Amino acid sequence: MKVMKFGGTSVGKPERMKHIASLLQTETEPAIVVLSALSGTTNALVEIGNAIASGDRHSAQQFINNLTEHYNKFIKELFSKEASLATAQAIVDEHFEFLNIILKISFSESLSKDILAQGELLSTKIFSVYLEEIGESYALLPALEFMSIDENDEPQIGSIRIKLKQLLDQHKEKKILVTQGYICRNARGEVDNLKRGGSDYSASLIAAAISASVCEIWTDIDGMHNNDPRVVGTTRPVEQLSFEEAAELAYFGAKILHPASIWPAQQYKIPVKLLNTMQPEAKGTLITQEPGGHGVKAVAAKDNIYAVRIKSSRMLLAYGFLRKVFEVFEKYKTAIDMITTSEVAVSLTIDNADHLDQIIKELEVLGTVTVDKDQTIVSVVGYNINETEEIIKKLFGSIRSVPIRMVSYGGSPHNISLLVSADEKVHLLKQLNKGMFGLE
Ligand code: ASP
Ligand code: MG
Repeated sequence: MKVMKFGGTSVGKPERMKHIASLLQTETEPAIVVLSALSGTTNALVEIGNAIASGDRHSAQQFINNLTEHYNKFIKELFSKEASLATAQAIVDEHFEFLNIILKISFSESLSKDILAQGELLSTKIFSVYLEEIGESYALLPALEFMSIDENDEPQIGSIRIKLKQLLDQHKEKKILVTQGYICRNARGEVDNLKRGGSDYSASLIAAAISASVCEIWTDIDGMHNNDPRVVGTTRPVEQLSFEEAAELAYFGAKILHPASIWPAQQYKIPVKLLNTMQPEAKGTLITQEPGGHGVKAVAAKDNIYAVRIKSSRMLLAYGFLRKVFEVFEKYKTAIDMITTSEVAVSLTIDNADHLDQIIKELEVLGTVTVDKDQTIVSVVGYNINETEEIIKKLFGSIRSVPIRMVSYGGSPHNISLLVSADEKVHLLKQLNKGMFGLE
């Protein structure tokens, strides 16, 4: 059995949804089909939740009405039989009725999770009605009955496996098993989620839980590319990557895969394939234990980075100084991405500035603190590139008059990271595309 995950844009238009159904009809292997919400829906639900939370019921109502209209139009276009349209309309009405009720009751954190869950519930139910309309046999597996996280928001693969198996046992003859990405239950049994973009994570967890033959992530691009196609003129798909390389790329900004979704597949040795719904015959990217080749595979950029420098003459020869610095970040649950030190200063980067003011205040006890906003981390990723001859020479040889604020080399054998000011990002990605890949 395999897992096939389709993202928001792959289900976001009626013709796209039809296309997915036809893709599934050509499959021979049974598949758990994980769907995201229709593109734009989760963002709209976030807006609705925020408006309700801030007491702005008028805007919330407006957002709900707009979204209702979007879905009414969507199903009218999707279905050709009156009976299926009526079934889908009843589903849409029921979910929007729920949102309208929430509008009237007092808001809570757990209610906001219920709001966010509506997107995946709607997409999977609408898709199921469509499979019914075209006479395709399927079963809907409710993610809220098997996907769960513990007190630390960590998924529990053991219990996911047991519950999922029970559900699968009830549908042994079915080849298409539809389920929701993103949503789950938390330790208190409430509706929760795996954070934004979490459907990839759902797919990988499910693949690990059922020991799937492969975890396919279907999007609208033919795999992970060597560079950001929105920034540089020419890019090419990377045919094969190791899990470690994929994790570096996903973490450092390649938008194609949610970073957390690597570990379940890696730990349970499930190959991951990144495929293109609009070009199903294209090779895409295969992610396995094996790197499938050495040298630099790709570069990725992560924006909205803050660089923090702590300068202290007291750091001179002082052990324990870094511990004090790290403790401040730990206290505010803020992860550090890059770090470099000299004898009198330490520079590090963070991407979460929620507690930056408090962090600065506490760091000022240790030394002089400066912060640079609007920085970008550009990561060059390849298998064991730290041992690959000439890489450093080629890397820095590619760069022309782009000031580099920080360099991180050797932390991982598969990654060299450069920190630049955000307005230098385009230059740097273009120069690297030419110098490292011979592409414009
Ligand atoms: N619908 C959720 C989001 O937009 C999850 C996902 O699409 O992966 O974040
Ligand atoms: Mg996504």
